Amino acid sequence: MKVKAAVIVIRPGYAVWENGRRRQRANGTITLIKSEKNIVVDTGLPQDKAHILKIIKKHHLRTSDIDYVICTHGDADHISNNNLFPRAKLIVGFDIYDRDMASFFQKNLKIDGNVMVTEMTGHDDRSIGVLVDTEKGLVAITGDLFEREGDWKKVSDWISFSKKPKDQIKNRAKVWELADFIVPGHGDIFKVDKSINILSFETKQFKNLIQKTANIYGDIEI
Ligand SMILES: [Zn+2]
Repeated sequence: MKVKAAVIVIRPGYAVWENGRRRQRANGTITLIKSEKNIVVDTGLPQDKAHILKIIKKHHLRTSDIDYVICTHGDADHISNNNLFPRAKLIVGFDIYDRDMASFFQKNLKIDGNVMVTEMTGHDDRSIGVLVDTEKGLVAITGDLFEREGDWKKVSDWISFSKKPKDQIKNRAKVWELADFIVPGHGDIFKVDKSINILSFETKQFKNLIQKTANIYGDIEI
């Protein structure tokens, strides 16, 4: 029988507004996948270096054992320890770097028998996520497609950072249907509650928001 993958959250991310909505204390979730390949998904901020090294070691790996580093998107708090892994192929957006040799994919990229990189746009138009087949079911590591568990209750929270909210609502619903667990961009892993129809819930909220809200960059595209 095929050996399935294990997903280990190295450090859950967080995002907490301070001073009203003027600034935010934030860091991205960092995840390790042990499969036929060893993979790190998102690498946090520079301050996370020691912690990443500690957890990698705890799982009996050296940094040179990591075959792939996958960044769900290019924000600073998701990419800042990429160079801890000297042998890893680097996937950011739809580009694959093997040292300085770049190749490209469109929607899906199979990494091994358990792991697939797939388009998860909305937060920005180059966002990707990772689908992982584990003993417990399908785990989706989504970057900022999902911010945290329960973020569908108040869509204005994640839409503040969304370049393409309509795409994001659609892709969130797709992942919700597909996955048993989600590792969000700024929170810990959670089980998907299939009894909730986030598509209709979020679409309703979004319609009410359109009149009055832009994203924090002021360039929302509807
Ligand atoms: Zn983020």
